Amino acid sequence: MKNNGTKPPNILFIMSDDHAVQAISALNRDRVQLNQTPNLDRIADEGCVFKNSFCCNSICTPSRASILTGKHSLQNGVLTLSDSLADDQVTFAGLLKEAGYTTALVGKWHLNCEPKAEDFDFWEVLPGQGCYYNPDYLVPGGTVRREGYVTDITTDTMLNWLETGRDQEKPFLACLQFKAPHRPWMPPPRHYHLYDGHTFPEPENLRDDYRNRCDVLKRNKMEIAKHMTWNTDLKVHDAGPNQSRLESFPETYGEYEWGRMTPEQLKAWNDAYDARGAFVRSHEMSDEEFESWSYQAYVTDYLRVIAAVDDNVGRALQYLKDSDLEDNTIVIYCADQGFYLGEHRWFDKRWMFEESMQMPLMIRWPGKIKAGATYEQLVQNIDYAPTLLEACGVDVPESMHGTSLLRVIEDGSSIHEDLYYHYYLHGGHGVPAHDGVRSMRYKLLHYYTQGEFNLFDLEEDPMEMSSLHDDPAYADILADMMQRYERARKQYDIPKEYGPEGTFAPM
Ligand code: CA
Repeated sequence: MKNNGTKPPNILFIMSDDHAVQAISALNRDRVQLNQTPNLDRIADEGCVFKNSFCCNSICTPSRASILTGKHSLQNGVLTLSDSLADDQVTFAGLLKEAGYTTALVGKWHLNCEPKAEDFDFWEVLPGQGCYYNPDYLVPGGTVRREGYVTDITTDTMLNWLETGRDQEKPFLACLQFKAPHRPWMPPPRHYHLYDGHTFPEPENLRDDYRNRCDVLKRNKMEIAKHMTWNTDLKVHDAGPNQSRLESFPETYGEYEWGRMTPEQLKAWNDAYDARGAFVRSHEMSDEEFESWSYQAYVTDYLRVIAAVDDNVGRALQYLKDSDLEDNTIVIYCADQGFYLGEHRWFDKRWMFEESMQMPLMIRWPGKIKAGATYEQLVQNIDYAPTLLEACGVDVPESMHGTSLLRVIEDGSSIHEDLYYHYYLHGGHGVPAHDGVRSMRYKLLHYYTQGEFNLFDLEEDPMEMSSLHDDPAYADILADMMQRYERARKQYDIPKEYGPEGTFAPM
């Protein structure tokens, strides 16, 4: 650690799972506001927001690996949900620990292995996706079950480590990683009635017909009104005349939440949610009515879960303040990727479209980051590791692809002309493997299993409703974006097998 006579900063790295940019009020002040997140907004107001922050592969496990390693998926070996992070991968946590930090990770991990002792002094992580109620946590040498609500318990455990567990002589890295708001969007009892009677605005493309883009969009399996489950997603256990619209989730499955609840918890849940089921049983809905109804039910639960995230971010910020740690702690809030809240008819992520490629990113660092600053520069999840290493005076390994965000913060530099994206989990939720590049204004997607490029002008068509790849007026732009695309594939050593000459079958 390079010590210039100043105390190295602590880091509180808060990451949630699938938190859409659309669901943080500080990031939507110039757009329709769905909800208010006063505690998250504090990070933005006392720190900064990155308005053009993106991931390189929009799904849980790969994005987490890219954040830890500062590398694109192919180079860190985590391409899909089933890949695990290999022992020889260098992480920013391990480098900070080696440099004298005490390190901890609590909550959602999802890298198909245990956190390494070389990376974390303390860890307590959810197995796989984890559960909302009475969750199990993996601990060194076993599993413990903790009664209560996952977002609250994860925060309790981290605050307890900060208070009594850590080596007080060392600076700390505390990774507080929420399962929320991942599917199946189950709120805690204190928010069961939040938004009762409220109608959320529908996104203008809730009824997207998928015209003017690659045909593969029509074969997606992530539409709210077609591909959700009655019970776990929409919280309806008997849908009466509407039952045939959707499947239900098997109640014997290990992550079936209601089977984990105590009788008291189950009663409180049923008391709150029975009215929704009763409504569905007594109203046979048309397709259009059902799409609107399921959107409202989905977004209501999603935002109730976000309210609990916001509560707990508030608790963590209050802890720093009360413990006199506020001034010398970098607080980061991000999610592993963005999410669809009805745009293109969808829930879930994966596509290179804006809602899922985007990541919320806010950083508070008193004395270093100007309060209320907004940065428009393109940044990506591979940049986080170099940023935190540089902020703590630790050398950034050359093998990392990302660039420190301090370049942006300190002198307003642009650090990426364009961003490379590659989704590899071919076929998941009906989404083909695809890649592409995004510049400040344009986006080129390559559906290489379908043999088709799509081009979007994000200024003219921010909802990405119409591809311009065969519009003669955009021929020069297409040629420029093709060059950028080829350059990025070369820069990141993407082999031909992940392209038209690869083995993925057309969908
Ligand atoms: Ca995720």
